[in-house]
Amino acid sequence: MHLVFLGAPGSGKGTQASLLVKELGYSHVSTGDLLRNEIKKGSTLGNKVSDVIKSGKLVDDSLVLELLKANCDLSNNKYIFDGFPRNIEQAKALESEILSSHFSRAIYFELDLGVLKERLINRRMCKDCGDIYNLISKSPSVPGKCDSCGSSNLYQRDDDKEETVGKRLDVFKETIDPVLEFYKETDRLFVVDASHESASVFKAIEKAVKP
Ligand code: AMP
Repeated sequence: MHLVFLGAPGSGKGTQASLLVKELGYSHVSTGDLLRNEIKKGSTLGNKVSDVIKSGKLVDDSLVLELLKANCDLSNNKYIFDGFPRNIEQAKALESEILSSHFSRAIYFELDLGVLKERLINRRMCKDCGDIYNLISKSPSVPGKCDSCGSSNLYQRDDDKEETVGKRLDVFKETIDPVLEFYKETDRLFVVDASHESASVFKAIEKAVKP
């Protein structure tokens, strides 16, 4: 069974995805990471999407869909789709063009959007291993240093800066309801309370995943 992680930016999808990769053998594919990687490489696609991402708006559906298709191999992996779908068109495309006969279940990280702005502005990532921190709730043991790999390259994503965060949350609010309905209608929507600490969110997800 493949998993589709739904939730606002900063709701903890990336953190839970790394736990599921470690503990349950999932493969994690994040369209945000794939896009940022294209920007880092300086590819044509990367140059095309860089300003859109900085503005907090969504990249064109067909570009993201093609990128996702090129980066997953369903026959050999069980996936966590993170950051895709972002709207109902993408939800339908994921079913028809990527998953087809493969079964999937959606996990919705439910959280009061009011707390998210603070979470996002305080989020820091490790440039070397991708570990995720929060200056308020999960700061690294040694300030500025990654607990997992020891790197000093902790950074703030451009789109986690205050001026972009509001726009990203607005986009989420405008697009999520039909996506939730889409999975609810087929009885494949599992909701977790993402305000809880990471370990208990993980336990809740495990329940949805294990037969
Ligand atoms: P994320 O890392 O998932 O928060 O995504 C960062 C940014 O990448 C988003 O604000 C969008 O600009 C873009 N992005 C990521 N996934 C998608 C998607 N499925 N559709 C459109 N744009 C996306």
